[in-house]
Amino acid sequence: MIPYSKQTIDEDDIQSVVDALRSSHLTQGSRVHDFEQAICKLTTANYAAAVNSGTSALHIACLALGVGPQDCVWTSPLSFVASSNCALYCGASVDFIDVEIKTGNIDLNVLADKLATAKVNNSLPKVVIPVHLCGRPCDLEKLRALSIEYGFKIIEDACHALGATYKSSSIGSGLYSDISVFSFHAVKNITTAEGGIAVTSNREMADKMRLISSHGITKSPDSFVNENEGQWYHEQQLLGFNYRMNELSAALGLSQLNKFSDFQIKRQRAVDYYKNKLSDVCDWLGNNDPVVISANHLFVIQVDRKKRKSLFETLRNNNVWVQLHYMNIASQPFYQELGFNAQEYPNTNRVSEQSISLPLYSNITTDEQDIVIALIKQELCS
Ligand SMILES: *Cc1c(COP(=O)(O)O)cnc(C)c1O
Repeated sequence: MIPYSKQTIDEDDIQSVVDALRSSHLTQGSRVHDFEQAICKLTTANYAAAVNSGTSALHIACLALGVGPQDCVWTSPLSFVASSNCALYCGASVDFIDVEIKTGNIDLNVLADKLATAKVNNSLPKVVIPVHLCGRPCDLEKLRALSIEYGFKIIEDACHALGATYKSSSIGSGLYSDISVFSFHAVKNITTAEGGIAVTSNREMADKMRLISSHGITKSPDSFVNENEGQWYHEQQLLGFNYRMNELSAALGLSQLNKFSDFQIKRQRAVDYYKNKLSDVCDWLGNNDPVVISANHLFVIQVDRKKRKSLFETLRNNNVWVQLHYMNIASQPFYQELGFNAQEYPNTNRVSEQSISLPLYSNITTDEQDIVIALIKQELCS
């Protein structure tokens, strides 16, 4: 079976996790801190809070920005449900911004129009969560300008975009947004099995996210509200969660990071191979904008929606385990019940109906890619 994605685990990863298992701390040791530092270095962020999933990272990012029941959060409907669920966890309401056909990222012209209307209606969002679909950054400069004009905060859902750059700055740098979130689920560009991280250039925000991810409990004397009674003393200052990353995950993440640039070179090579072999056959999400470098998390082809289903089935029937990224979030029964209507996002529906995510992972072989390419050609060119 050729999966759409899979982890790359070598002996050094296994050894790193075994070392963590043999160490004195399985949780709250030094590896999580080291992993946070390593992600800061890679993304050029100042601060990082490592947690147990990308979803938890989105949740604590929303909470740190003060999202609550009075607020609205806007995001892309062409994403994983966690991009919008995170706002609902905070009791906030959600709205969606339709995407561009070419990239599948939120359409900033649609956003600008919606903001102008919202300003008149006094219903501006507190936070906008752009999703860098497939690892290709959206136009952050334009988004930043809108955030300044309309006074909203930005959380980048960069779960696909570790290693991507926008205008020569790393995604996660904090130049254009308040917080960026990455996931280390097994299918992502590096993995900690389950895991995620929120990065920021704002110290206060980072402290708040750490507090929220560990029960709201602090042990650091400089932040105590009441008198420090002794060495046992700690304070719960808000209602937090246990979202902490464990040492085994951090150990895996650290060894994965050693190989990250190699992973990315291999992903780029695999994507170039698909583009080269499929250019006469079908289109794909993304464009050649030279100001961005994609992290190449996904390679999503676009095929006539009347042929999509049969191509998808042919690939699956031949053990090529393709996927769909994504169904329109507004079309999910849970969201329909909240009153959303998928028809309000025509570009999202169009991209979704035409999409198939082809197998892409750092150690995919040319032989595997050739099998996928041959099946696509056979189905679309016969
Ligand atoms: C994977 C993913 C998430 C959630 O990450 P988990 O670590 O699985 O919780 C959120 N948003 C997007 C776009 C993702 O791809």
